[in-house]
Amino acid sequence: MIDENSIAKKIISVIRSIAGNNDLYLHEPLFFGNEWSYLKNCLDTTYVSSVGKYVNEFEEKISDFTGSKFVVAVVNGTSALHIGLKLCGVVPKDEVLVPSFTFVGTVNSISYNNAIPHFVDIEQETLGIDTKKLLQYLYENTYVKNGICINKLTGRIIRAIIPVHTFGHPSNLDDLITISKKFKIKLIEDAAESLGSFFKGKHTGTFGDLGVISFNGNKTITTGNGGAILTNSYDLAKRARHLTTTAKVPHKWEYLHDEIGYNYRMSNVNAAIGCAQLENLKTILLSKRKLYEVYSNKFSRISELTLFKEPSNCESNYWLQTIILKNENKKELEVILRETNKNRIFTRPAWKLISELKPYQDCPKMDLTCSKSLSKRVINIPSSPNILRDINNNG
Ligand SMILES: *Cc1c(COP(=O)(O)O)cnc(C)c1O
Repeated sequence: MIDENSIAKKIISVIRSIAGNNDLYLHEPLFFGNEWSYLKNCLDTTYVSSVGKYVNEFEEKISDFTGSKFVVAVVNGTSALHIGLKLCGVVPKDEVLVPSFTFVGTVNSISYNNAIPHFVDIEQETLGIDTKKLLQYLYENTYVKNGICINKLTGRIIRAIIPVHTFGHPSNLDDLITISKKFKIKLIEDAAESLGSFFKGKHTGTFGDLGVISFNGNKTITTGNGGAILTNSYDLAKRARHLTTTAKVPHKWEYLHDEIGYNYRMSNVNAAIGCAQLENLKTILLSKRKLYEVYSNKFSRISELTLFKEPSNCESNYWLQTIILKNENKKELEVILRETNKNRIFTRPAWKLISELKPYQDCPKMDLTCSKSLSKRVINIPSSPNILRDINNNG
């Protein structure tokens, strides 16, 4: 038995009062539009693979929604990051600055380029990179020579930085752009989680040299598997398209490939789902914001925690609703996770820090105090768009 006054009990009681007695997953996809009809069209026309109208249509619609001049649809967000880094000139033995507090795919994309992740700390205000701390760190530990940033300690080039818009909340993009310019570091936004999130009115993923979105099944909208590269540069977009389609040179019948490319193009089947999902994106975003408001109202009564609110000057998509415990208490955290999951409220802790995972333990890193603390205090709670049950008539 757990104490009636425990934080776990209070959390369960708040969530149940809002969501009823259903099993509550972290984030379920919702299909209540034209998904079936567009999928049927793929089968009827036999366009199920890398050619077909839905892929182009999907790219255009993402371009319209985000304001990114160019969009290249790919098989998933990780492959988009892999190619994005390559396009920004990341070569073997380069270092890439990246939060330790992120999904492993962000960091793996650096390894796929045989580059070296260099872990940086985050801040509690945005859950993104602590830009003040990073600026200080770069002044002390790097120098810029001939337009290239060098790590004094390792002698290696710091070529790029990947901020992550964590759980859909925009990082401090003003500062990140300043850092990118000042230190000659390419800016690649991991906007995998932030479709529908804006910083000062502009869509995330459109600030850097490149941005990346994921359409995995657990994201705000899904294509099954899927991702996209966003860029305002015609040249980068052209290179992205070429590299993600096996570097094939257009020709009526010859198989000519002028470099080592990748088979990363999104399929028409995946894009068909995406086109239907996009038609309901605004509805989904509204319902997620409403869920935040309802949660926020009720959780305000629990003094031991706060519900994470979108940073100032930002409009977040509220992809994953996030509780932050005020105190660091490993046992308390475990009780909350155990009791909620036992109650079929499938909460999740934050990621284990990537710098503590076996493949990444020896990588360069700055002081990670805030990341460490947050990784023991953050809990994601059920965030599906239909929790309030007014979005469709499926129950
Ligand atoms: C989902 C996600 C990715 C990777 O996307 P996939 O489509 O699953 O490959 C990358 N970074 C972050 C922060 C993510 O949440």
